[in-house]
Amino acid sequence: MSLVLDDVTLTYPDGDGRLTALDAVSLEVPAGCLTAVVGPSGSGKSSLLAVAATLVTPDRGRVVVAGTDTGPLAAAAKARLRRERIGIVFQQPNLLPSLSAVEQLQVMAHLSGRGPRTVRDRALALLDAVGLAEQAHRRPHQLSGGQRQRVNIARALMNEPSILLVDEPTSALDHERGAAVMDLLGRLTADRGTATVLVTHDRTHVGRAARVATVTDGRLTQDVRV
Ligand code: ADP
Ligand code: MG
Repeated sequence: MSLVLDDVTLTYPDGDGRLTALDAVSLEVPAGCLTAVVGPSGSGKSSLLAVAATLVTPDRGRVVVAGTDTGPLAAAAKARLRRERIGIVFQQPNLLPSLSAVEQLQVMAHLSGRGPRTVRDRALALLDAVGLAEQAHRRPHQLSGGQRQRVNIARALMNEPSILLVDEPTSALDHERGAAVMDLLGRLTADRGTATVLVTHDRTHVGRAARVATVTDGRLTQDVRV
């Protein structure tokens, strides 16, 4: 199992008390499986991804990434695990305005210290895989919203992650482009064998996922399909 959340509870300080953002959540995502987690705004979706990404430490429960129990890891070891194993597609692409699409991807891999030629070839191949071979040298302002989202997804795959975490990928896209991004995520998940978790408040395209779970007030219920 590439990603395991086992009985995870996360609270935030809230006035005099605590707000429970995740309430005893358990989720297992195998390699090559696209799992959608659907829930309304404020239900805990981004919190779930932050915990899975080891960016936030839960109050209770275990987070296991590619066989590694992240609980005992120090901050530096978690950062390394993130760099090597986890691809994160945040809701806002956060592309650097001065860099072309291919450079956005290259920056990621330079952080992990591979040779520049290999890195560039890999970046170009990934842009091709997301349908942006022709746009590799464009900067963010020369790309459409859907194209920027594709760069965002390609960038997250740069270090060959075992798990891919995607926050609301279709929220800024029209229906057709939203469907295309979901299809792309399904294809990339199958081709690259990532355990992919996609969270969204929008049920429209979730039929394209292999599995769908629902989160309500921090509680996860699974609706497993085949
Ligand atoms: P979603 O992504 O489904 O909209 P979130 O995970 O962002 O939900 O938020 C879940 C709940 O936790 C909400 O009530 C939100 O206000 C609260 N919350 C999220 N982040 C923080 C934080 N850093 N500090 C305090 N409360 C937070
Ligand atoms: Mg959110």
